Amino acid sequence: MTEPVVLPDFDAFGAQTLKGLDSPEEATAATQALLREDRNSGEPVINAPGENHLLLERGICREGAWYRDAEVKELTGADEEAIAAAGSSSYKVFETLLLRGVRTIGNESMSRKLASELLIGDRELLVMAIRRATFGDDLEFEELPCPHCGELVDLTVPLDAIPFTHLDSPEQTEFQVPLRRGTTAFVRLPTGEDQAAVLAIKEGNGAKQDSEILGRCVLRIRHADGTETKRPPATHLSMSDRKNVLKFLADTQPGPRYGDFSFVHEVCGKEVPLPISLAVLFRGM
Ligand SMILES: [Zn+2]
Repeated sequence: MTEPVVLPDFDAFGAQTLKGLDSPEEATAATQALLREDRNSGEPVINAPGENHLLLERGICREGAWYRDAEVKELTGADEEAIAAAGSSSYKVFETLLLRGVRTIGNESMSRKLASELLIGDRELLVMAIRRATFGDDLEFEELPCPHCGELVDLTVPLDAIPFTHLDSPEQTEFQVPLRRGTTAFVRLPTGEDQAAVLAIKEGNGAKQDSEILGRCVLRIRHADGTETKRPPATHLSMSDRKNVLKFLADTQPGPRYGDFSFVHEVCGKEVPLPISLAVLFRGM
């Protein structure tokens, strides 16, 4: 009997972070099952030319034009070492993955600045493409314990099976959120830069993290009488308005919903939540 592998907390996907959720226990079970499986595999993945190209949901804007095409690459041993050297901070691991695994966005080479400018959802979509380029399309789970009936499940999950949210209008950068008493918030969606600012706030202070994201993403409030307040301090918003805006930001952010994946266990017929963590995507890296 080997000791279970202890992994740092990699569950730093933006939507989860912004909802203030802790990494669910199921993710650990999933990771363990995947790691068990992975000791026996290791075949190289050969990609057809062009396969490492993808379209982002939002992309970047340069002089009024939007660029949504991106190119990623297969990670090498050198990249793996760089990612390991990023330490146990999940944000740093995520950031290093992007810097090492993304070649270009539009006509620009990947950089820290470029990564910070991207919507959280585009960053998560890029990470999925890097995973695809490096390990292929399928997540293989072996001996995953069903939480309902206890039976061990073997499962193949294609990356496309992970729930995905699209932007209705990719170039729309400002959104209206109706609030109480006839007011309306005008908001923008959080980027990598916003996420970094939120994660820099001491863990456990969810309310402060919420204030940070609201302070950044609420551009102005229009009151019932038509007057507007620019950049209202987040602490001045009512609790109910804060929750409404945060929910809108989380629901509207495009990209893969790694935390929302579930499958139906055929034997017992019940739905099993299986949140996909970064460690699951990258095989415990
Ligand atoms: Zn079951």
